[in-house]
Amino acid sequence: MAKIFCIANQKGGVGKTTTTVNLAAGLAKVGQRVLMIDLDPQGNATMGSGVDKRQLETTVYDVLLESASVAEARVHSEKCGYDILGANRELAGAEVEMVALDRREKRLRTALAAVGAEYDFILIDCPPSLSLLTLNGLCAAHGVIVPMQCEYFALEGLTDLVNTIKQVHANLNKNLQIIGLLRVMFDPRITLQQQVSEQLKAHFGEKVFDTVIPRNVRLAEAPSYGLPGVVFDPPAKGSQAFVAFAEELVRKMPPASALAAEAASPPVPPVPAPMDAPPVAVQVPDSL
Ligand code: ADP
Ligand code: MG
Repeated sequence: MAKIFCIANQKGGVGKTTTTVNLAAGLAKVGQRVLMIDLDPQGNATMGSGVDKRQLETTVYDVLLESASVAEARVHSEKCGYDILGANRELAGAEVEMVALDRREKRLRTALAAVGAEYDFILIDCPPSLSLLTLNGLCAAHGVIVPMQCEYFALEGLTDLVNTIKQVHANLNKNLQIIGLLRVMFDPRITLQQQVSEQLKAHFGEKVFDTVIPRNVRLAEAPSYGLPGVVFDPPAKGSQAFVAFAEELVRKMPPASALAAEAASPPVPPVPAPMDAPPVAVQVPDSL
């Protein structure tokens, strides 16, 4: 069964989409069967995987409204090596249309049950909000990967995300956990970034992935060619980092059955390492 992960952070522009498409391509590169779901009406992950969102006849919108199955709505990208359940502007309407429907938070979860056996990983690119769309992602997932920039205000908002995840865990999806924080757009020449990065590691310990994604212009250029950086320019530093991240994830992940079996454990275990000083002067969640 597939391990289902949301890439989430309610801040915009932190690298969610870049992480989703490059992790999908990295996982495909190391032999994993991957479905990438674009849950953002902006459709950037769709376009960034070489699928023209304006030409799509069926999207995740149809899946949420149950007028198409995942099998009907997905497309395959030969170049990228993974399947795509795309999105476009139409998805913004789903938010409103779903409010009146039953099981409105669980529609994606229900739809994915039919294809879970066909994949090793299902990655969901979430919009920059804690909306009903994001909630559908969180209800369908085993875990959340949180891309973060090592900046002064990086943890601002993490508290809201952690609280939402705790609520979803308590009320809607006992399987949900935070898989880890991924440091992205990292520039080692900037002392503050190094400091924040070290403090993140000291505070959140094992919940911070070892792999660090550097700031790399090739990753930013790749979407305009309709490709993830990993496919567009494999030797680029950023691309290599995402393949290393895919390998780290495969290495660390228990099978999906074991993930689900952890249902009773809290989504975010307390972090044992004490913290000298908070990395930022904003509210920091004391555990993940
Ligand atoms: P989000 O999905 O969270 O809004 P994006 O993945 O779209 O964020 O990234 C925001 C911008 O930063 C995009 O222009 C993207 O190309 C750029 N970007 C993301 N990660 C990197 C990186 N590691 N190096 C350079 N640019 C990056
Ligand atoms: Mg995005």
